[in-house]
Amino acid sequence: MTRVVPARVRLVALRQQYDALASRIDAAIRGVLERSAFVGGAEIADFERWFARYCGTTEAIGVSSGTRAIELALRALGIGPGDEVITAANTFVATAAAIVAAGARPVFADIDEQTLCLAPAAVADAITPRTRAILPVHLYGRPAAMDPIAAIAARHGLPVVEDAAQAHGARYHGRRVGAIGVAGCFSFYPTKNLGAFGDAGLVTTSDPRMADKLRLLRDHGRSSKYEHQLLGYTARLDTIQAAVLRVQADALEEWNQRRRQVAAWYRELLPSELRLVAEEPGVEPVYHLFVVRIADRDVFRGFLEDRGIESAVHYPVPIHLQPACRGLGYARGAFPVAERAADEVVSLPMHPFVDRPSVEYVAAAARDFLATRVGAARP
Ligand SMILES: *Cc1c(COP(=O)(O)O)cnc(C)c1O
Repeated sequence: MTRVVPARVRLVALRQQYDALASRIDAAIRGVLERSAFVGGAEIADFERWFARYCGTTEAIGVSSGTRAIELALRALGIGPGDEVITAANTFVATAAAIVAAGARPVFADIDEQTLCLAPAAVADAITPRTRAILPVHLYGRPAAMDPIAAIAARHGLPVVEDAAQAHGARYHGRRVGAIGVAGCFSFYPTKNLGAFGDAGLVTTSDPRMADKLRLLRDHGRSSKYEHQLLGYTARLDTIQAAVLRVQADALEEWNQRRRQVAAWYRELLPSELRLVAEEPGVEPVYHLFVVRIADRDVFRGFLEDRGIESAVHYPVPIHLQPACRGLGYARGAFPVAERAADEVVSLPMHPFVDRPSVEYVAAAARDFLATRVGAARP
């Protein structure tokens, strides 16, 4: 029997995503070029309106990156020096960098073994008199445990700011992420589920005062051409990126749906020795990444690479152990669940154009790898 063997199973497929929408994207970019209004303009308001409606918030404020989105959301809440913000130890480093950029101190908490998102009990334990916000991360496109986290936040009078950079469109008990906390922070880095052709980000909120503050902060504190209410930033969403994003937004639901299909194939076909991130009723992930856990992760990755299967690790070093965070004073052992996960997680190819033969091929490779391992363990 001959099996269809893909030449290479890619982790992401940015070119295919562009090709699927190329004529509309080209026209949208050309429209900006022909008007030559490169900052501000209707494209930004159009995209913001679309995104707010999609998430179910009243406001969406486009900014220059996901990191800026988090930083400005914290600043808009008045968070700064002397304040602590609690977040997950296993997130992308930008979550912590944004807290520091706002002038505050990141306080990490451990994650749940099954979901790899913030463990609510760990959040409760991390609260101090200086805590000013809780920043859960919807890691890999899977919503964090928002109800328990919101209950803890409410008990302490703290705002919840969502890091939704990996979770455009994910739902938690019917609500879209970004519409659950006081603000949701999104990244449109090219490989995200909704990606620009460069850097871009956005904050969702249904608090009009917070939205006003964010609009000031992203644009030099400007309330009118020559009037500056505060000293802000050059942190606007780029007009060309907004035009590109508005076109790609029309494909987001379909592409998320295809990612879910790919995830369902992986769940059906991967050998049970690979541990998966837990699913539960009411929590609808959008599979920014498809992450499995396996001992000998690096050997496994080499085995996949030999078969033309790309993989990645999100993330091999928890943030509290990064050299950049040495000054925060955490030691190995501080967050055992996150540290163990960092040694075992591997991201398999996941994008809207992964087909079933590719998943079958990856699953067969995983089975073969496990077979060699059993063989090697024999005396
Ligand atoms: C991508 C990402 C960010 C940062 O977004 P940028 O647009 O790259 O600044 C923040 N948090 C998480 C979890 C991310 O994945």
